Amino acid sequence: MANVTKTEKKERRAMITINEDFCKGCGLCVATCPQHLIKIANRISQKGYFPAELVDPEGKCTACALCAVMCPDVAIEVFKAKKQGGGEK
Ligand code: SF4
Ligand code: SF4
Repeated sequence: MANVTKTEKKERRAMITINEDFCKGCGLCVATCPQHLIKIANRISQKGYFPAELVDPEGKCTACALCAVMCPDVAIEVFKAKKQGGGEK
């Protein structure tokens, strides 16, 4: 259990969310992420597309925001953990 907590801390350094209502599965973010952390899901969204999703079990996202900048449908939001106080945003 203690190990899980440690891993969680790493994971919280940065992350993205992908709004599936906007995502059309174009794959631009997949091709753009320098860490190769975004994949096209193997399921269909409510909008009828294969949506992108973050696959980052090791917490490698750096919050570089290249994916968000590249997305033509503004579906991606980037969050970066604050160092002090344990808060995140
Ligand atoms: S913010 Fe950067 S590292 Fe994180 S998923 Fe997007 S492109 Fe990849
Ligand atoms: S670039 Fe945007 S629309 Fe295209 S797959 Fe990524 S999140 Fe979806």
